[in-house]
Amino acid sequence: MIVGLLKESGNEQRIAFLPEIAARLVQQKVRVFVEKDAGLTAFQSNQLYEEAGAEIVSREEVLTKSDLLVQIGEPSPELVEQLGSDKIWLSQYNPLWNKNLVTQFLQKGITSFSMDSIPRTSRAQAMDVLSSMATVSGYKAVLEGASQLPNFFPMFMTAAGTIRPATVLVLGAGVAGLQAIAIARKLGAQVQAFDVRSAVKEEVMSLGARFVEVEGAKEDAAAGGYAVEQTEEFKQKQQQAINDHAAKADVVICTAQIPGRKAPVLLPKEAVERMKPGSVIVDLAASSGGNCELTQDNETVVHHGVKIIGQSNYPSLMPVDASKMYGKNVFNFLELLIADDGSLNLNFEDDIVAGTCITHQGEVLNSRVKSLFG
Ligand code: NAD
Repeated sequence: MIVGLLKESGNEQRIAFLPEIAARLVQQKVRVFVEKDAGLTAFQSNQLYEEAGAEIVSREEVLTKSDLLVQIGEPSPELVEQLGSDKIWLSQYNPLWNKNLVTQFLQKGITSFSMDSIPRTSRAQAMDVLSSMATVSGYKAVLEGASQLPNFFPMFMTAAGTIRPATVLVLGAGVAGLQAIAIARKLGAQVQAFDVRSAVKEEVMSLGARFVEVEGAKEDAAAGGYAVEQTEEFKQKQQQAINDHAAKADVVICTAQIPGRKAPVLLPKEAVERMKPGSVIVDLAASSGGNCELTQDNETVVHHGVKIIGQSNYPSLMPVDASKMYGKNVFNFLELLIADDGSLNLNFEDDIVAGTCITHQGEVLNSRVKSLFG
């Protein structure tokens, strides 16, 4: 089998795997084609890929000769149009939002996998790109908040007086939120966190943060560890608690998301207007609408002196380690598709292969995506 690594489009600086992973694929008797200069934005030269045993070829050659094409971002409709129906596509293409793309893959008969649909099971943990990238985002969000804040994070006792530590409020204590809590604590801030899943309370506390409790949250064990939509009564109680805590916070890191749905609005305009001038909101949910009502995706806006940063792709701004993590996840998944002789092995009896496969031979396989198509 030939695995083809494509250069990303737009401002994306990551690459789907580093040369070290190309070498591991070659060891598994797979030929690796890398689009010329694909790794440059992540500081990976063509030579490094060649030394790993990959072949540097033109984009045209990657697209026509590879059996399985790998990138991170979603492909453009024009790119999918160019692909033959015998190709296998693997990227993080967000099928729950991109129904048109799913339809295009279906119509072309292309087998497509989306890395954001990896099941959240213990066996699949080593392939979970959402967790890896959330780790990067949580880390970067705190650094961004700290660098934009006109105050220190840690407490300082100096001859010029005592500086009080900053207060950071983290909304959503999933993978990104827990990482944000840990980094904010390391920088010396006082941290409070809120989540609708009570299961995270202990984790939050073990990281040295305070858990803001609001009673009456709806939880569903069948949601695979994810949050579910909440009742109106709970939302009102939650809003009051968040508004009161946000008013006292210096930095609010927003990470709350519900897969396949618009992000919950947890910081309405009125809450922002109660915050101190100079305080900062970093909204990691920006691409799915934002947890703050005033967030603009990929923009920074200032309202009543509060800076609201809507950056939804921090992993791209840390392309080396983010690509390293993404590539390791991809490799662990590809291992399920590679037979001993290096040929392609599509085993849909495997729950990870079946769960991650969105389209195959004109049918939708993933059950959550299937429900979108009625
Ligand atoms: P996510 O990015 O979908 O959501 C982030 C957080 O926002 C979650 O903790 C969620 O509960 C919270 N949230 C949603 N709506 C909210 C609201 N209205 N108010 C406050 N908080 C809200 O989730 P994620 O971080 O990708 O993962 C969530 C959990 O899934 C993890 O903490 C973990 O328990 C589990 N998980 C399991 C695996 C695995 O087993 N392979 C891998 C990754 C995550």
